[in-house]
Amino acid sequence: MDRNNRLCALSRIKTILESLEIPEDDVEMRQICDLVSNYLDTKCEHHIVTDYIDIGPDKGYTIRFCDVCMRTFS
Ligand SMILES: [Zn+2]
Repeated sequence: MDRNNRLCALSRIKTILESLEIPEDDVEMRQICDLVSNYLDTKCEHHIVTDYIDIGPDKGYTIRFCDVCMRTFS
């Protein structure tokens, strides 16, 4: 469970990082983003859940995502 807490924290960090505009020449920042991404990709034993997203009275779609790292799957 500890491990999942770390992964959840990193997934929140990833969301924050993705909301930033990182200049091409900020190499260290880009490395941090890559590290976070790779860590989640390689360390998460995905726990995939399915959710239904309503986008209208009779419209919607199903998404599958990992509720630990929040990665979506098609
Ligand atoms: Zn995952």
